Amino acid sequence: MSRPRSVVVVGASTAGLAAARELRRRGHTDAITVIGGGEEPCSRPPLSKQVLKDGSADGTVSIPTADLGLEVVRSPAAHLDPERRRVTTRDGHDVPYDALVVATGSAARRIAAPGQSGELVLRTLDDARTLRTRLGRADTAVVVGAGFLGMEVASACVHHGVSVTVVDVAPPLERVVGTFVSAVLVRRARSVGVELVQSEGPVSLDGDPVTGVRLGEGTVLRADLVVTCAGDVPVTDWLDGHAWAGPQGVEIDHGGRTPLEGVLAAGDVAAVREEAWLRRRPFWSNAVAQGRLAAATLLGDEPGGPVWDDYFWSEVCGHSLKMVGPVPRGEPEVLAGDPCTGSALLRWWDSDVATVVAVDHRIPVPRLRALALERERA
Ligand SMILES: Cc1cc2nc3c(=O)[nH]c(=O)nc-3n(C[C@H](O)[C@H](O)[C@H](O)COP(=O)(O)OP(=O)(O)OC[C@H]3O[C@@H](n4cnc5c(N)ncnc54)[C@H](O)[C@@H]3O)c2cc1C
Repeated sequence: MSRPRSVVVVGASTAGLAAARELRRRGHTDAITVIGGGEEPCSRPPLSKQVLKDGSADGTVSIPTADLGLEVVRSPAAHLDPERRRVTTRDGHDVPYDALVVATGSAARRIAAPGQSGELVLRTLDDARTLRTRLGRADTAVVVGAGFLGMEVASACVHHGVSVTVVDVAPPLERVVGTFVSAVLVRRARSVGVELVQSEGPVSLDGDPVTGVRLGEGTVLRADLVVTCAGDVPVTDWLDGHAWAGPQGVEIDHGGRTPLEGVLAAGDVAAVREEAWLRRRPFWSNAVAQGRLAAATLLGDEPGGPVWDDYFWSEVCGHSLKMVGPVPRGEPEVLAGDPCTGSALLRWWDSDVATVVAVDHRIPVPRLRALALERERA
């Protein structure tokens, strides 16, 4: 790819703005146009941790852009014409590009039946504000989905004194952190009153507007508040008709390139082929890393990093978790502390690949990453 003059970024959030910042850092002085979807650029991790609990946190989530010299189009991209190298927005702007970064992220996966109203999800600042208001009025809540988001929403329920049940078809958090860490966090969540229910089959929402959750076996759990945290779906509708952009995301190679000349992708929308599967890693650090990777690639520079960053963090009922590496299996090596009673630093090896997890253990992220790269076992 020759060095582009005009770069267009679709999606004004973590990945897209990381790409824009990295372009400037690498000396790109020509135009960068950012096409936004309507919401203000916003960092999502604090939405479930601070904003749900505290109204004064609303002002802390915006992503600064003033120093980047961006041209901003505030209307969602509606169509890509790769022949003419143009993106058309919903309000009719026709934006030409030499290089394009697709960073449209993902949307909350919804489980309501067609036409069923009242499903609450958490993806945007507006969602968080709505949920916070509802939490202030509720006595009981059911959260669908015991992944990180669901457990963080449950933590917010506890904070507001709302009695909460979290429902999933799988053991809580197991898909993301494996059985060992899942058991540690589940113990801690239960100790502050979070009730965890495993459904024998897929759940559905009950009532219109929604007033409860119907478990696979038919039981209905009623609550003042029902929140769905059932995963996310990549936003690719505006790329309809392009074979490389579908329900599993926008396929990228190890430089962040899509199969289309001059078009790259990054963040929650991007998927990398691993054998037969397309895999996304919808986490903040990965969005930043892939945004930077896309910028380096499109300037023809050495990216200097892999296409993935698999570090992430969360907070479950007042307990912090940091993890780097793939989902661990079996018993860990305890590097520090005690996972049963307090803070702990844990490591697993699977051949040459390590996973390191810190639970309530203060450790700088670079040190955590270094522990995962050490070839020598302790
Ligand atoms: C509540 C919450 C808490 C989280 N907590 C953590 C955490 O603790 N740790 C962690 O690692 N990760 C966390 N994540 C995940 C992390 O926030 C995401 O991985 C990250 O936001 C992905 O960034 P992105 O830029 O790829 O996508 P997004 O942040 O989804 O941004 C995509 C942007 O594109 C815009 N857009 C969509 N369609 C169009 C269009 N057609 N035209 C123009 N713009 C469009 C959207 O409006 C949005 O602004 C959390 C996510 C949520 C929702």
